[in-house]
Amino acid sequence: MSIQIENITKHFGGFQALRDVSIDIAPGELVGLLGPSGSGKTTLLRIIAGLETPDRGTIVVDGEDTTGVSVRRRGVGFVFQHYALFRHMTVFENIAFGLRVKPRKDRPSGREIKAKVMKLLKLVQLEGVADRYPSQLSGGQRQRIALARALAVEPRVLLLDEPFGALDAKVRSELRQWLRQLHDELQITSVFVTHDQEEALEVADRIVVMNEGRVEQSGTPEEVYENPANPFILSFLGSVNLFHGRVHMGQARLGAIDIAVPEHAATDDIPAVGYVRSHDISVERQPTDGASIRAEVKNIHSIGPIVRVTFGVNGKDETVQAELTREAFRKLALKKGERVYVRPSNVRVFVEDYQI
Ligand code: ATP
Repeated sequence: MSIQIENITKHFGGFQALRDVSIDIAPGELVGLLGPSGSGKTTLLRIIAGLETPDRGTIVVDGEDTTGVSVRRRGVGFVFQHYALFRHMTVFENIAFGLRVKPRKDRPSGREIKAKVMKLLKLVQLEGVADRYPSQLSGGQRQRIALARALAVEPRVLLLDEPFGALDAKVRSELRQWLRQLHDELQITSVFVTHDQEEALEVADRIVVMNEGRVEQSGTPEEVYENPANPFILSFLGSVNLFHGRVHMGQARLGAIDIAVPEHAATDDIPAVGYVRSHDISVERQPTDGASIRAEVKNIHSIGPIVRVTFGVNGKDETVQAELTREAFRKLALKKGERVYVRPSNVRVFVEDYQI
């Protein structure tokens, strides 16, 4: 099923939560809505579900305008972060619930319900827990059962709101991969909300980055990561360093760094900021004219595959963060207090004074 979200606007009293949001979702796509807290992700998801009414705009599912269609008839499955299972019901009964409450004419027989629940338990890889109660499951298992329950009624669309938000990092990462595989198998058009950029980049076919009720950018994880449309997205998708300076006729001067910015060829001496991801900072012992900056090693944090080094620059008032591979770090043999040169690459220069 395709979903067209068209010009959705929503206020809560005087506060505008969504500002003219339009997103096209292709059949079978897994779309991640990514954005900071309060950016309107949950509100948009609730509008798609029919749990909230927009002030303006429409949600078209498979060519049908769903305005005025009840939540029940929309054929939407939900999994929420704290969407508690029914505590007094077994896992089996939880999954069967949506089937048992169907109108008599659509309700499957007892035997059909049993077969379906068992099939779903197999799908979520929890075949042995049918008779347990939710309190006898781990958090990760509960979310998988919540997903099985959502899938039982064969939804046209699956909506997931921070489904793994309450789980610890290891389980979350396992469930991400599991969700991706499950989606590849089922191909149900799905939208999931997350504020975790790693989760969105890893799981989604396409991510939609939201901020203050607007869509800032939409694209494949690679497109958005490699070609962030603005400084907000760049900063939101990982650790970045800012180098302040000016741009004049296609040339940026950012402190000691000079770089060509042909995209700003006609720009006449205005303030600009160069954004550089921490893994695009390399370290040298000898300066490179116009490309490197004197720096002093202030701090080294070397746990895991990446070594994070903080440098003091410009008389140590400002800092630059670098993420080095263990191999690069070992070769450099950096010591705290040592004076070296840092060299940014892939500098993205934005000319306005963009507020993050
Ligand atoms: P989070 O990641 O924190 O859940 P979000 O991006 O999902 O954030 P929303 O829950 O959609 O954000 O909220 C967007 C804004 O709308 C917030 O400022 C929130 O306080 C406000 N808001 C949401 N629901 C209501 C409501 N029922 N009444 C008043 N304000 C609301």
